[in-house]
Amino acid sequence: MQNAQKVIIIGSGPAGHTAAIYAARAGLTPVMYEGFMAGGVAAGGQLTTTTEVENFPGFPDGITGPELMDRMRTQSQKYGTTIHTETIERVDFSSRPFKVFSQNDPATAILAQSVIIATGATAKTLPIQGFGEYWQKGISACAVCDGSLPIFKNVPLFVVGGGDSACEEATYLSRFASRVYLVHRRDKLRASTIMQDRVLSNNKIEILWNSEVSAASGDGKKLGSVTIHHLLNGGNENRDAGGLFFAIGHKPNTDVFKGLLDMDADGYLLTKPGTAQTNVEGVFAAGDVQDKRYRQAITAAGSGCMAALEAERWLAVNGIH
Ligand SMILES: Cc1cc2nc3c(=O)[nH]c(=O)nc-3n(C[C@H](O)[C@H](O)[C@H](O)COP(=O)(O)OP(=O)(O)OC[C@H]3O[C@@H](n4cnc5c(N)ncnc54)[C@H](O)[C@@H]3O)c2cc1C
Repeated sequence: MQNAQKVIIIGSGPAGHTAAIYAARAGLTPVMYEGFMAGGVAAGGQLTTTTEVENFPGFPDGITGPELMDRMRTQSQKYGTTIHTETIERVDFSSRPFKVFSQNDPATAILAQSVIIATGATAKTLPIQGFGEYWQKGISACAVCDGSLPIFKNVPLFVVGGGDSACEEATYLSRFASRVYLVHRRDKLRASTIMQDRVLSNNKIEILWNSEVSAASGDGKKLGSVTIHHLLNGGNENRDAGGLFFAIGHKPNTDVFKGLLDMDADGYLLTKPGTAQTNVEGVFAAGDVQDKRYRQAITAAGSGCMAALEAERWLAVNGIH
């Protein structure tokens, strides 16, 4: 039987790479499975889908998402992380060493003394006409990340959704936009009362009830308008738009762990408060896969650091060197 790896990291966003850098520098020779379009996202995670990142410390002039992730990957490897471009499709945490199975060779168990799960989440969007052409050219799925970029200043912005996130994003965007339109399919918001009150009392936000965005168009370089489809009368209307933000939730990449690890009702992994520990000793979780509140690269990286430090201590306590 093959030797068990000390630490296996599943996932390759900021959480996974930060865990890898810490584990590698601690001499744990981590092995990362970075995924191959796992959850519909390229290795490197959600930041590979964006252009400018202006809020990751250390880059005062900003850096593109793909370049930031390339740098993290290089740093992980430099300190001794082995990276496989493979997706983990099954795990067995019922006994130690743990077993994980890659899509590339599903019959062979890869053994691990500890596992760090950093599989992230996928932002939900809608396949409206023009989506592909204007993604990151006016269409986004993260207002906190992109809202303050120059292209979104003093222009009309549209937010799709009706829950807490949509209300929070609309409120946030109202600082920059000339006007914010919250487009909601129903005649009532799903958000908590406090979030609804914030939106309803904000005179820069208008709610387009019983409506959906059906298309995005522009000059090929930048979004210029959206088509609003009115669900009650079936009519369509074109409106000038400088930005379109989807705020219809995220799907945590946790299908592989269903029934094996504790999760909340939305499928996010549960960790013990203030730690990266899951309910299975020796299995840790970091980043967006266990965080539906902040969902930022820097918070993901911070929890990746926590997971690696905790894995290192756990291995030491259990006499695994
Ligand atoms: C459009 C957009 C713009 C954003 N802009 C910013 C920004 O400017 N600043 C900021 O701080 N944050 C930004 N964010 C948020 C940020 O990208 C996330 O908070 C961060 O990437 C989360 O990191 P993570 O490591 O938890 O997971 P992710 O980045 O989600 O990465 C997880 C990785 O694991 C892989 N994976 C999943 N399942 C498996 C499996 N079974 N086996 C192997 N691999 C697997 C996935 O394919 C993915 O590559 C943005 C997000 C989006 C969608």
